[in-house]
Amino acid sequence: MCVSNTTIPLSTATSPLVAHLENYWTSLFENRNEALVTLTMLFISHEIIYFGRCIPYLIADQFPSLQKYKIQQKQIQNTAQNQWKVFRYVLMSHFFFELPMIVGFHPVAVYFGMAISAVPFPSLSKMIPQIILFFVFEDFFHYWAHRGLHYGPFYKHIHKIHHEWSAPFGLTAEYAHPVEVMILGTGTIAGPLLWCYFTGDLHLATTMIWMTLRLFQAVEAHSGYDFPWSTHNWLPFWSGSEHHDYHHMAFTNNFSTSFRWWDHIFGTNKKYIAYKERRARELKEMKAASKKTQ
Ligand SMILES: [Zn+2]
Ligand SMILES: [Zn+2]
Repeated sequence: MCVSNTTIPLSTATSPLVAHLENYWTSLFENRNEALVTLTMLFISHEIIYFGRCIPYLIADQFPSLQKYKIQQKQIQNTAQNQWKVFRYVLMSHFFFELPMIVGFHPVAVYFGMAISAVPFPSLSKMIPQIILFFVFEDFFHYWAHRGLHYGPFYKHIHKIHHEWSAPFGLTAEYAHPVEVMILGTGTIAGPLLWCYFTGDLHLATTMIWMTLRLFQAVEAHSGYDFPWSTHNWLPFWSGSEHHDYHHMAFTNNFSTSFRWWDHIFGTNKKYIAYKERRARELKEMKAASKKTQ
């Protein structure tokens, strides 16, 4: 057990914000069990970030003027009853399946050489490329693991639970079989661990920022809304909700999480492209018809 009982020196960062964050980080670990602090921080932040990220979509559900941004207009599954059902399932899953996995995080991270309680934090110029790399790694891992989960018996016994929702909403992002949570969670954590193993240069703070962004990505992808400000509308190669919503609606194509390129390269977006073209054609015809009647 790693218990710090010495006074850790105060931050020497020149930026007041960074100095404040580093001092706060130090105070969290000082004279406490490092593994326990890490576990508490990871679990609580996961709950706040996951459910907190769902709140804007829950609010959007209450505004009729925003319903034009719902990707699927005919199929409505984000009823209060369904939201409550999914909330309870996900909360149980967090406590009974994700919490035990988080317990194992600290010893594994220490084994792979991750800096936990030490300050200073890495610079942004170091953090950003690492996080981009984790996004790329996770996306590739997820693409193949998710494609594998659509194979007959795996789909029937594992992935079918996540596909209970053909018109997903934010909370459904982690509505999945525990085995799926474990398999796909590996993609999130294996990138940082492998990076750590080969370079010995990764801080828990960077890993936590990465996990936060990964949760943001997952909730947005399942939100069921395609707002003008949604990520893929200003980052065209980003998968986002419009891409993943089709996967839930059609039960095929678009297996990636963050980026569109693997589905494009491996040809698993053909039905999705054809669907989009058909929809665009229909929309054009409808507009032309309404102009004629005016
Ligand atoms: Zn799927
Ligand atoms: Zn999904």
